[in-house]
Amino acid sequence: MSNVYYQEKFEDRHNGPSSTQVDEMLKFLGVDSLDELIEQTVPAQIRRPSLKLPKALSEVAYLEKIAQISDKNKVFKSFIGQGYYNVVLPGVIQRNVFENPGWYTQYTPYQAEIAQGRLQALLNFQTVVCDFTGLEIANASLLDEATAAAEGMFMLFSARKNKNANVFLVAPSIFPQTLDVLKTRAVPFGIELRMADVAEAELTEDVFAAFIQYPAANGTVADYKQVADAAHAKGITICVAADLMSLALLTPPGEWGADVVVGTTQRFGIPMGFGGPHAAYFATKDSYKRNIPGRIIGVTSDANGEYALRMALQTREQHIRRDKASSNICTAQALLAIMASFYAAYHGPQGIKNIATRINDLAKLTAKGVEAFGYTQLNETYFDTLRFKVGAEAAGIKSEALNNEMNFYYEDDIVGISIDESTTYEDVQTIVKIFAKIKGNAVADVDLADFVNNLDTSIPAELLRTSPYLTHPNFNSYHSEHEMLRYIKSLEAKDLSLCHSMIPLGSCTMKLNATTEMVPVTWARFGALHPFAPADQTSGYMQMINELNDWLSEITGFAKMSFQPNSGAQGEYAGLMVIRAYHESRGESHRNVCLIPASAHGTNPASASMAGLKVVVVKCDERGNIDVEDLRAKAVEHAANLNSLMVTYPSTHGVFEEPIIEICNIIHENGGQVYMDGANMNAQVGLTSPGFIGADVCHLNLHKTFCIPHGGGGPGMGPIGVAAHLVPFLPNHTVVDVSGEQGISAVSSAPFGSASILLISYAYIAMMGGEGLTNATRTAILNANYIKARLEGHYPVLYAGANGRCAHEMILDCRGFKNVGIEVADIAKRLMDYGFHAPTVSFPVAGTLMVEPTESESKVEVDRFCDALIAIRQEIAAVEAGQADSVENVLKHAPHTAAVVTSDDWNRPYSRATAAYPLPYLKDRKFWPSVGRVNDSQGDRTLICSCPSIEAYAEA
Ligand SMILES: *Cc1c(COP(=O)(O)O)cnc(C)c1O
Repeated sequence: MSNVYYQEKFEDRHNGPSSTQVDEMLKFLGVDSLDELIEQTVPAQIRRPSLKLPKALSEVAYLEKIAQISDKNKVFKSFIGQGYYNVVLPGVIQRNVFENPGWYTQYTPYQAEIAQGRLQALLNFQTVVCDFTGLEIANASLLDEATAAAEGMFMLFSARKNKNANVFLVAPSIFPQTLDVLKTRAVPFGIELRMADVAEAELTEDVFAAFIQYPAANGTVADYKQVADAAHAKGITICVAADLMSLALLTPPGEWGADVVVGTTQRFGIPMGFGGPHAAYFATKDSYKRNIPGRIIGVTSDANGEYALRMALQTREQHIRRDKASSNICTAQALLAIMASFYAAYHGPQGIKNIATRINDLAKLTAKGVEAFGYTQLNETYFDTLRFKVGAEAAGIKSEALNNEMNFYYEDDIVGISIDESTTYEDVQTIVKIFAKIKGNAVADVDLADFVNNLDTSIPAELLRTSPYLTHPNFNSYHSEHEMLRYIKSLEAKDLSLCHSMIPLGSCTMKLNATTEMVPVTWARFGALHPFAPADQTSGYMQMINELNDWLSEITGFAKMSFQPNSGAQGEYAGLMVIRAYHESRGESHRNVCLIPASAHGTNPASASMAGLKVVVVKCDERGNIDVEDLRAKAVEHAANLNSLMVTYPSTHGVFEEPIIEICNIIHENGGQVYMDGANMNAQVGLTSPGFIGADVCHLNLHKTFCIPHGGGGPGMGPIGVAAHLVPFLPNHTVVDVSGEQGISAVSSAPFGSASILLISYAYIAMMGGEGLTNATRTAILNANYIKARLEGHYPVLYAGANGRCAHEMILDCRGFKNVGIEVADIAKRLMDYGFHAPTVSFPVAGTLMVEPTESESKVEVDRFCDALIAIRQEIAAVEAGQADSVENVLKHAPHTAAVVTSDDWNRPYSRATAAYPLPYLKDRKFWPSVGRVNDSQGDRTLICSCPSIEAYAEA
């Protein structure tokens, strides 16, 4: 037969094991075929018919197809503003961070010793935020400006002194999308949004805080010092949303009295991407440090007394505090925060000041030029945004702007223009020409050059920033490209990523993030689109999003998806709010009880409480399954008020629970809705589906199951799928219509969340096809069961299904080693010496490791990992047998740095080779942890959350 029709299959690149390896693993498991293994694993009653998806495309064919789709997007120059601006992403950051798997495939830095690079970049980010806002403490990123504002509102609400106050004053000049999200988030807590400018409003007793947009959405800047003082005198706090770039020139809100400052860091080099991803920031006063949502990076030291970083305070806060957690934020936007921090380091204080000043000067020049033709510019004060009152000429200006491939902002008889980093003198000439033409003038009538040297100030003197920023050496040392490149690479080298070895994190699904899937994300035809661009310029995006909607609906068995939630936890919240709206539409708004199994991920109870629900915990039996009788009893007991069940499937214990359909029925019979947490969807795709099982809503973590890389803790996407009866309630958006009249208000800033990374999941499905996706699921289950079989004799494996099989992950019990002083953390740290990232530690069961290999790991890699864990088990056995000391051993001292192993005063009872090269493969492939074991409690006792000066650190 001829080979002319032969085509390489992407599936064969995505799935790790070769067919020979698959056969070897099946043999090891004692089954004849993959089908037989799947039959033993997935209960027959939930098996779905095969997926109906388009035929798989090769990588080459896919890139051709997506190039054609991208051509349907029109990249007009945006002057829309409204929180999204064109940027200039420095090439050195684009190629070496954004497009570099050494940065984008990392996991959230829970294992600090092999994550010092991104921890440093995130500490730099916090420093940038503190410096620009003038506040004392900042977190390492939130999802977007609107949700950050909502977090600010909620934090100030929780911390309010007068517990009867429930009014949040909102200045009317707020970005509409931010107001939309505030509305959504205010409802469950009974917070009243009162639209009034804090400068004019009566500060009544029922007000707990006030919100100010700075500069205002209409572009003006005003001095709020006295207003803030007056509010504080009445116990009212101030939350400000500020444009970070403007703060290079404006007095930072922290200096005039803001208690919380939030915003986006998009302007620091992050492409608009039709809405995201971008990192939001959150800064506040030191006194609120224990209430801050999200992650905070802090300085501490390691076992050798050296400088080391780690996540501070509320690490995994939701897992501990559950429904009392201060927020449900888990995945944030780490990669984008890292990029913004490098942008700040690359430009430094003077560079950023130059950029901000140029923006302001070009805005002033635009104002002068346009005014010269008889237009009135309404903003007396401004940073970058102008408003021209144009009356009936608006339509003409709009059409002339479109002729010049420019988008302005239009509101009634006003044309708004926001200048940004990418704007040039030539752009200003074009803008002036557009306005001139409508007045019937040629631009030659006015010479812009005449204005250049006599631009008046547009920022009032009392608002001019005087305080310095970015004074730390990290922002003053890397301004040449070589220095920057090497700084980026030096940090990257400290971090273990998927470039080095498998990251077997249970529940997190760290699978292949294929290069071809990533390529289009940084194309300008996807990157340079404003989320509020006119619809006829975005049809490429809409085609991609609509097809992805159809495919994910088929995969989940649901009627429709909403792409607004930009993380799994946001999906949970959105889904619960949709359920709430559904109950309300039936006159059952009193339903407020949410059942959640004890094994649930911490975001579940945290989201439920944000949605105003009362959490009732359902027991799990000794085999790890939901206790169906307990569930029934609680559903019946709360039937009158039952809102929903949140259930993860397969369970977080890694098992396909047989009675899942019965569980759904019990909830429905008692008037509730079933929310499925789709984090474990990787075990379902093609074999079963949430819709088929009987769930009503499910979020997908596209950054787990559908190949969006983890980015060191984000970006992610958490779209929700819903059954037909819930479709009318899917989130809408105030600027761009994306749902019906009954739709709930927005849950994110942008109508399609972090739209540009949807391309990654789109590519994955397009190149895998239905059969390929199903094979991926089958392979993930095979890999997991193979690991289980290899490790069972060494570590007890908790929980399994009826036939002794696990789903796509399993839990290794390490609690038995405690009696010889070995903790699960010691195993996690020792794995670093073997070149591996630890599995998930202590979730969902304390003292255990949850292992998930995914389908993308070959048998060779999986065997290497098993060999490492078995070798570690032997090291534990040596302690158990008394051959190794219970304190002075390789586990307790792990991880070992190169400095420790090569030090002249080695005095350990084990050899250097045992410390660093315990298995032969390491000779070839050694990854050195850059610091020794970090000291957690020291870091929390003295919290240092921005770059310490070198002297300060030396003294500490
Ligand atoms: C990852 C995960 C979540 C949270 O998703 P994020 O995208 O990080 O917000 C929720 N539930 C489970 C079971 C998870 O594994």
